Amino acid sequence: MKSRSGKNGAPKSRSGRKNQSAGRSAKSGGTTAQRLAELKQRVCVANLDLVRRGLVIETWGNASALDADTGWVVIKPSGVDYAQMRPEDMVVVDLGSGVVVEGSLRPSSDTATHLVLYRAFPGVGGIVHTHSLHATAWAQACRPIPALGTTHADYWNGSIPCTRPLRPSEIRDNYEANTGRVIAEAFQGRRPLEVPSVLVASHGPFCWGPTVEKAVENAAVLEFVARLAEESLRLQSKLPEMPKPLLKKHFNRKHGAAAYYGQRHPSSANL
Ligand SMILES: [Zn+2]
Repeated sequence: MKSRSGKNGAPKSRSGRKNQSAGRSAKSGGTTAQRLAELKQRVCVANLDLVRRGLVIETWGNASALDADTGWVVIKPSGVDYAQMRPEDMVVVDLGSGVVVEGSLRPSSDTATHLVLYRAFPGVGGIVHTHSLHATAWAQACRPIPALGTTHADYWNGSIPCTRPLRPSEIRDNYEANTGRVIAEAFQGRRPLEVPSVLVASHGPFCWGPTVEKAVENAAVLEFVARLAEESLRLQSKLPEMPKPLLKKHFNRKHGAAAYYGQRHPSSANL
């Protein structure tokens, strides 16, 4: 892995990567190269969207996407100013080995967490991490977000879990990979695509989805729902979780096998 990062020398490295990219295109075929270029564009836009939606300040967030055919993960570079970020700055990492296969900037420091999650959660195509205010407040309180109403149930089929704290040895060695492992542990018995978010204890949220765009949307709605739950519990501190039948109704009408929310069903036009 190359150690250079940040803005210094960016123009030189850009042209260097361009050549490297062109060589790889010839080797792996136009279709793969085009798809990778498109994925870099989408991952760059997703990272910028996190800032635009007020979910990330400074450089406290990252988004990635998986190309399932090649097993390559496209992820934001580490510590690069969002104002300077370009699609060609995105780093391509091999899902199996974790080795950088394209790009000369260092990948996000949370890359190992993303890789563990892609390996553990089949069907996930995009992952987002933020330190958005309200979701992070729940993570710092080490509390799962209970399903209190239909806004929550439209996105999550149950409460949003919080991980157990990492042990000192898990913090000392392989911290980022161990963060992914405690998330996977929290999802034993849960379907990750039905509960596409987690709170990492004393840290913050990770969200995912079949695409990186969906992961960004989930991160934005999570922030809203986290705040909404705080407001509800402020009004009624002993509020129980919403009735299960209502939770199932709302989740399944958008996500179940017989989903009918939106424009696919004539009767849903005025929902
Ligand atoms: Zn973080």
